[in-house]
Amino acid sequence: MRVIVLGTGQDGGLPQLGARIAPDMQARTDPLAVRLGPSICVLDDDGRCLLVDASPDIKEQESRLLQLPAYAARKGGNPFDAVLLTHAHMGHYLGLAHFGREAANTRDLPVYGTRAMAGFLRKHAPWEQLVSLRNIALHEVSGGQVMEPWPGLRLRVFAVPHRGEYTDTLGVSINEKLLYVPDIDGWPQWANARAEVERHPVALLDATFYSPQELPGRNLKEISHPFVTDTLKFFDGLQQGRRIVLTHFNHSNPICDPASPQARQVRDAGFELAQEMQQFEL
Ligand SMILES: [Zn+2]
Ligand SMILES: [Zn+2]
Repeated sequence: MRVIVLGTGQDGGLPQLGARIAPDMQARTDPLAVRLGPSICVLDDDGRCLLVDASPDIKEQESRLLQLPAYAARKGGNPFDAVLLTHAHMGHYLGLAHFGREAANTRDLPVYGTRAMAGFLRKHAPWEQLVSLRNIALHEVSGGQVMEPWPGLRLRVFAVPHRGEYTDTLGVSINEKLLYVPDIDGWPQWANARAEVERHPVALLDATFYSPQELPGRNLKEISHPFVTDTLKFFDGLQQGRRIVLTHFNHSNPICDPASPQARQVRDAGFELAQEMQQFEL
């Protein structure tokens, strides 16, 4: 069983629509510079696949998955066996649209999310149609809960502080081996941050912005993400003995370019940068 990183971009990905800065212009012509919307999946040797977050790039992510024999061997039916949604910001759930009758027309696909997330989908078009037409079957989960979509796959979800316009936000521990927290307001605001990272061999963490210099003219109080420079300090010491892997990069983040001095600084500090289609054996 392995976790596959399907997208390392922030919600808008790289390139981001309308952006004309150099990294976006490069990504429009260089496939290796592209970063898809934030999503991971768990794929076992029998081809069973749990998707964590349905990004707007879900079709491209499926195409990449089909390069893997275990996924390609799946026989028809739903493209995934279950979906866990962390929250209702655009990068994390808009891909659900492709499960509807105009597209994959999935059948009773189990979708796990918080009570607020499930309520949001039940109440609002076009998502409510996925529920009424039984494309998806909602399963409400709450922080601290452990569920087993199938034997051998254990998901422990927990609440993390993150601006909650529509829903609250979850992080997830997969088999107590890999921790995934793509969006958080800041590490000090989450009481369990260091303890949770410490108990996992691999932690994939929010690295949306590198530093305040990246955002001239913006009110930092409106930026609900830790800066990478702060993340390196906050978790310092824990990078020994485990892998702390940064992900969810905004298109403006200099560490999108692995050759940048900032990316080197992250690696020199003993942290890693997530790569598209990177795999972690569990
Ligand atoms: Zn996000
Ligand atoms: Zn978010």
